[in-house]
Amino acid sequence: MPGKVVLVTGASRGIGKCIAKMLAAEGMTTAINYNTGENEALKLQKEIEDSGGRAFAVKGDTGFAGDVETVVNEVIMRAGRIDVLVNNAGICPFRDFFDITEEIWDKTFNINLKGYFLLSQRVAREMVKYKLQGKIINISSISGLVGSSTQVHYCSTKGGVNMLTKAMAVALGPYGIAVNAVLPGTIPTDANTEQLSDVEVQNKILKHTPFKNFGMPEDAAGMVKYLAGDECKWITGSLFVVDGGYTA
Ligand code: NAP
Repeated sequence: MPGKVVLVTGASRGIGKCIAKMLAAEGMTTAINYNTGENEALKLQKEIEDSGGRAFAVKGDTGFAGDVETVVNEVIMRAGRIDVLVNNAGICPFRDFFDITEEIWDKTFNINLKGYFLLSQRVAREMVKYKLQGKIINISSISGLVGSSTQVHYCSTKGGVNMLTKAMAVALGPYGIAVNAVLPGTIPTDANTEQLSDVEVQNKILKHTPFKNFGMPEDAAGMVKYLAGDECKWITGSLFVVDGGYTA
């Protein structure tokens, strides 16, 4: 991986930040995409640079086609190419079924699903142009496999990401581009702080988790590291569950 270029979307916080740090430590030039968290992204850039790595922050809302174009153009201008795309930027606004408005539905789909497609299509064009054996890794969720009463919209986006992964693997395989997904279970981050502050919710999840603990961002990032790595050659269209056994 040393010398290769990775773009990680939504890397200012949470799982994306951990993925960016881990891949930068492997020697990859790391583009840290953020939307609102400029300070966090610049702090991460400095942290990576201070430990001898190469990184730069790139602003852009991945839910909009115009921003996707800007982000990809900037990464290519600064780093020359993109070998690995990690689609991670996502939102998870918990809502009861009857409280999901059209606005919330559209926003969740724009960021969690449309953005993944737009970025993949735009980056894959570059990979094909430069004949790169590229890799696209989508951060999905076990919510794309099992339902949840307060995540009907979110689950639908992640089910979509799972099929997007498989269909893109079929479409891009002939070009040598691998497309896989990582499906984490519950990992405490800003996305679920409020939900997990309820001990009953915590206990309900842990009761169904054979390992009896929540995951860490490193658990998901470690799987991404493997999929992005040079040893991973003949895997595409696969969905990797990282959930302490919740869906077992
Ligand atoms: P998080 O801590 O809330 O971080 C979300 C990240 O996404 C932030 O860096 C945020 O950037 C970025 N983001 C949000 N909207 C964006 C947009 N429109 N454009 C660009 N960046 C945007 O969330 P997380 O828990 O790390 O989740 C990361 C991914 O893992 C998501 O796809 C999520 O669905 C998935 N996942 C999480 C869990 C879990 O339990 N945490 C489980 C399964 C799957 P700014 O702060 O700069 O706006």
